[in-house]
Amino acid sequence: LSIRLRLTIWYTAVLAVTMLLFSVFLYFLLARNLTVEINKSIVIKGREVISSVRVIGPPHQLRQVVLPDVDVFATPDIFLQVVDSQGTVVARSQNLGGQNLPVNEAMFSETGRTGPFFETATVGNERVRLYNSPLNLKGNFIGILQVGRSLRSMETTLNRLRFLLFFGGGLLLFLTASLGWFLAGLVLKPISRITKTAAAISQDADLNRRIAYLGPGDELGRLAATINSMLARLQVVYSRLEEAYAGQRRFVADASHELRTPLTTIRGNVELLQKMGDTHPVEREEALADIACEAERMSRLVNDLLVLARADAGQHLEKQPVVLGGILNEVARQAKQLQGGVNFRTEGLELLGEIKVMGRADALRQLFFILLDNAFKYTLPEGKVALAASVPADRVKISVIDTGSGIAPEDLSRIFERFYRADKARRTGGSGLGLSIASWIAEEHQGKLEVQSKLGEGSTFTVLLPVAKLS
Ligand code: ADP
Repeated sequence: LSIRLRLTIWYTAVLAVTMLLFSVFLYFLLARNLTVEINKSIVIKGREVISSVRVIGPPHQLRQVVLPDVDVFATPDIFLQVVDSQGTVVARSQNLGGQNLPVNEAMFSETGRTGPFFETATVGNERVRLYNSPLNLKGNFIGILQVGRSLRSMETTLNRLRFLLFFGGGLLLFLTASLGWFLAGLVLKPISRITKTAAAISQDADLNRRIAYLGPGDELGRLAATINSMLARLQVVYSRLEEAYAGQRRFVADASHELRTPLTTIRGNVELLQKMGDTHPVEREEALADIACEAERMSRLVNDLLVLARADAGQHLEKQPVVLGGILNEVARQAKQLQGGVNFRTEGLELLGEIKVMGRADALRQLFFILLDNAFKYTLPEGKVALAASVPADRVKISVIDTGSGIAPEDLSRIFERFYRADKARRTGGSGLGLSIASWIAEEHQGKLEVQSKLGEGSTFTVLLPVAKLS
């Protein structure tokens, strides 16, 4: 059942019950009032008649009583009849025609003698309200005066009322039900419009669409606004998801591509070795060295991918207070082996003293090694590389400064992206993952990795880390 139909049925039912109760109440109230009126009128008539009875002899029998002419008191719908103590009709009004008012036994019973009473009887084909009043003379029961009044006009009135209530009420119910149906339709129309739009949006999966609702800011207006704001939120979340998904796809595609290159080299060399056998020892050595080198590159790549995959999965580094100066000295010692012809020096590492940061030693080592490795890779022999430390307020600042190739402004914003390499010729053999990992490590330490660079002049990569607050 639709809401529209249910609403209509509900208030029609409520109205029907209310009208029924009201009608029944009205009907019975009117019936009772009319009966009371009739009772009153026949009592008054009875009293009038009784007050004009005159006694002419010993007051024991009706024969000694002069009855008034009952026709004087009768009106077209009021009938009169006098019955003696034996039950014989002694007088009756002419408007009764040939009929008698019914005389029943009860009139002569104890109650009948002692007090007047009412009854409803049928005379001919007419129902009559009867007032039976005992005629007592000086304490003697001598007969009964019966005053009757036809109930026809009352019954006609009540019949008309019944007819009116029944058909009028029915018609009224029908009209209100139709009006209710129409109004419910009118009110619910915007809802069906909203439903249609929402269905269309979900069918076309078009989150750009909104529900066009121009009505007032009532319940429906708020519903439309709520759905619209939900759609807007969904759109944002969906586009973020799409971005993330596209990023993942790119990541997987790039990773596969990166892995394919060393694999191809390895396979080529293996085939060569298979063909050559032991005949060319020098070429054989070269091929084996190639294989080893590529295998190492691959395992580095796979390690990097693993770090990033874990980062994507929301894994965090477990940290503890570590002495940064120690780590940097160690990295600097190892970096000297990459130095080649480049002039390498450290500056201000002693300022760090025993300062601790909350971190993970191996991750921090990896971070600075990536930066130093890059600095040496992109700096020609005779150039300079420096590892410098300073301690601005409750932070430590570590810079890796080189006088190498520098980075073009258009590349500068992208070098932290995965697999991005500014060096399009790829002479350096890097994978483009180093800086992504480095910036992730810096973030994991609540720190920052920043770069300043000028093409042809050199670059400075700066790591800012908060000093551990030890209690
Ligand atoms: P790669 O493995 O290629 O070094 P990175 O993510 O470490 O990958 O670096 C991304 C790119 O940023 C490099 O390909 C290079 O073009 C540029 N880059 C990084 N460090 C330096 C630097 N010290 N001097 C010049 N260019 C750099």
